[in-house]
Amino acid sequence: MQTIPFVDLVTQYQSIKSDVDDAMQRVLDDASFILGKTVDEFETQFAQFVGTKHCVGLSNGLEALRLALTVLEIGAGDEVIIPANTFIATALAVTAAGAKPVLVDCDATTFQIDPNLIKSAITPRTKAIMPVHLTGHPSDMDPILQIAQQYGLHVVEDAAQAQGTQYKQRECGSLAQIGCFSFYPGKNLGAFGDAGAVTTDDDRLAERIRRIRHYGQRVKYDHVEKGTNARLDTLQAAVLSVKLKHLRQWNQQRAEHATRYEELLSGVGDICTPICAPWATHIYHLYMIQTEERDALQKHLNANGVQTGIHYPIPIHLQVAYTDLGYKPGDFPVAERLAKRILSLPMYPELQDAQQDYVVEQIKAFFQ
Ligand SMILES: *Cc1c(COP(=O)(O)O)cnc(C)c1O
Repeated sequence: MQTIPFVDLVTQYQSIKSDVDDAMQRVLDDASFILGKTVDEFETQFAQFVGTKHCVGLSNGLEALRLALTVLEIGAGDEVIIPANTFIATALAVTAAGAKPVLVDCDATTFQIDPNLIKSAITPRTKAIMPVHLTGHPSDMDPILQIAQQYGLHVVEDAAQAQGTQYKQRECGSLAQIGCFSFYPGKNLGAFGDAGAVTTDDDRLAERIRRIRHYGQRVKYDHVEKGTNARLDTLQAAVLSVKLKHLRQWNQQRAEHATRYEELLSGVGDICTPICAPWATHIYHLYMIQTEERDALQKHLNANGVQTGIHYPIPIHLQVAYTDLGYKPGDFPVAERLAKRILSLPMYPELQDAQQDYVVEQIKAFFQ
C-alpha cells in the first residue's frame, strides 16, 4: 500500500536543501539571531512580491492580525466582521485585540465571506471587516471595499492562506489597509517554525507595528508605548527568502495539480470539485472537494494510505470557545453545510502524477 501524505515538507526541503542550509549557516556564522539585515532583506523582498510599500516581519500570523487591529485603534467595545467559515485564529485575533467578532456566512461556491450578507451585520460599533482568503482563493474584495467605504470601516485582509493569490490580477495583501500573512510551515510559503508578516502602503501603520513588535521602543531602551515581543526570527527570515524565490512556481505546480484533480474526479460519485471564480488566481493552499459521503470517504482513504484533512470541521459560531457570542446551530447554514461535506485532498507542489492517480483510484474504488 502506498502512503500519500497530505503535505510533503521533506521533499520540498530536499529540493532546496543546499540554498537553505547555506542561508541558515550564514546566520549562524554571524550569530545575529534577532532582526538585522536578514530580516530587512526578507521584508523588502516580500513587500516587492505583494506590491506594497512595507512589509513588517512578525512572529506568527495570529500576531499579524492582532497587531493590525491594534494599530487601527480597534479594541474594547468595537466589533469586527469576519466569516463564520475560517480558521479559529481569525476570531482569536479579534478577541485578543479586545474587540468582538461578528460573524457572516460564506458563499456556497467560493467558500469566502458572502459580501451580500455583510451590510446586515453592521452596527454602530462595527469598526472593520476582516475577509479571509480561505484555501488560497481570494474573497470578492470589490464589494467588500465598497461597503467599507460607504460605512467608514477599515478592511484588514487575513491572507494567511494566500501568499501569491490574486484578485483581478492584484495581489492579496495589497488590496486593503493591511494584509496579514502567516508563514506557518504548512502554508504555501512556510518557514521552519512560526513566522508571519503584515504588508501595507501606510507609512504610519507600518512604523507603529515595527515599534510594537520590538517592545514599543523608538530607539533602544526608549519605550514610547507598551509594545510586545512579536519579531520575525532571523533564522526564519533566512529560510523564507530562499523559499520566496520558488513561490510563484510552486503555486503554479499546485494549480496544475488542481486542474488534473478536476479532470480525473469529474463524474466520480457525487463529488464537487472546487470552483475558481473568473476574477481569481487560486493558489490552492487547500484542494477541497465536497461530498455527502465525506466521513466514510475520509475513513476509506485513511485506511488506504491517503492522508486528508477537514478545513474546518466546526465553524467559529459552534466552537465551545465562542459560546459567549450567543450564536446557535442554523445561524450560518452555508458554513455548517460545508463543514459536513468538505474534504481536503493531498496538495503540495511536489505531488507526483502517480501519487495523484493513486488518490483518485482510491476515491473511485470507494464510490464503486
Ligand atoms: C494559519 C492561519 C492563521 C494563523 O497563522 P499562525 O501563523 O498559525 O498564527 C490565521 N488565519 C488563517 C486563515 C490561517 O490559515
